[in-house]
Amino acid sequence: MITSRRKLVLALDHRITQTRMNDQFNEPNVDHGPAMPDRRKFLVAGLGLAAAPLLTHVATGAPSAETGATVGKNPVSVRAYGATSAATPLGAMQIERRAMGANDVLLDVLYCGICHSDIHQARDEWATWNPTRYPCVPGHEFIGRVQAVGSAVTKFRVGDIGGVGCMVNSCGTCENCLADREQNCLKEATFTYNSPDPATGGHTFGGYSDKIVVPEHFVIRIPPGVDLAATAPLLCAGITTFSPMQHWKLARGQRVGVIGLGGLGHMAVKLAVARKADVTVFTTSPGKVADAQRLGAREAVLWSDAAAMKRLANQFDLLISTVPQAYPMQQFVNVLKLDATLVNVGAMEQFQGVNGIDLVLGRKSLAGSMIGGIAETQEVIDYCAARNIKAEIELIRPEEINRAYERVVSKDVRYRFVIDMASTKAAG
Ligand SMILES: [Zn+2]
Ligand SMILES: [Zn+2]
Repeated sequence: MITSRRKLVLALDHRITQTRMNDQFNEPNVDHGPAMPDRRKFLVAGLGLAAAPLLTHVATGAPSAETGATVGKNPVSVRAYGATSAATPLGAMQIERRAMGANDVLLDVLYCGICHSDIHQARDEWATWNPTRYPCVPGHEFIGRVQAVGSAVTKFRVGDIGGVGCMVNSCGTCENCLADREQNCLKEATFTYNSPDPATGGHTFGGYSDKIVVPEHFVIRIPPGVDLAATAPLLCAGITTFSPMQHWKLARGQRVGVIGLGGLGHMAVKLAVARKADVTVFTTSPGKVADAQRLGAREAVLWSDAAAMKRLANQFDLLISTVPQAYPMQQFVNVLKLDATLVNVGAMEQFQGVNGIDLVLGRKSLAGSMIGGIAETQEVIDYCAARNIKAEIELIRPEEINRAYERVVSKDVRYRFVIDMASTKAAG
């Protein structure tokens, strides 16, 4: 399982230096369970706290009968939305969240984006390398309000807003973890859903749920004032496209091509435009051409436009492929410059139709990249907050998830569905 997962990591960066462990890094939790005799170890908020953080309770840590002093102390059953088999639609279910450890944060989930990966996983479409464990509760880009924190937590206080992306733990000690690349953990990161969960002995459940317990290191600070629903997708779609721009040093004026204009692709365009790169979108949807230009691309080219593809030969410094399935890539290799790289972030299958001689003649590279580390994820959140960059979203209620899935598969989303988990709570 671990070996096959690592096939994902196509461009693992081995230039690891002796990087000091992040001050805020916490050991993986080993102290779960009910053995937490000191009630003051929990800084607790009442169940009705979401609208009005009671920071006095944070300051004192004093338990209060009124505010529900046992929040997070024991495992809790929470409402979630998930699939029980590859063939069944998602529906409401109850799942258990573990008791909080000293380094944990309990998040009350407010908004959760729908990523194409959620669909692949719920339908067991990655069976060959990442078979789905059922029940499957997807969701790996979500934002919530901190409802309780463990005794050793320093990064959050009750009432703060935090976000979680695609992973919720890693070993913390391997060379990749120590270099802020937890996603490439040599012992395999614990992904937000469908990963073995050492804390429970089961598997992880994602953000299509009312609450989640996550080590604070894996919770991202969300700056005040941002649009929470439209920021949630940055935790997967944003970091997934930002990280290759950082790694391959996309600079002002360079030509970058974004292949596929969906949830990831539209974030790639926005992030590349923010760097003042010269952006071209490659799409199969004529209806998205105008959108690409509205988002700031110089032009949008249909894959089927052979004349345009020929005109663009040897023009691009970087290509980011966001298409969530394998497809013949040669025509895109052709538009790379000497020494340039096509980075795949979407397709998990074998590369198709690439001619070795064309890579050789142009010293071109095919690479892959998976999300980003926690520090880099914080960086993209802060970067976007400072520039008012956010996803274009359509807000839905949980009962609309299955219809949203159909629309994602048929490329009928502009450009990310976000589930409004808060609305269901308001409705009781
Ligand atoms: Zn995703
Ligand atoms: Zn590690």
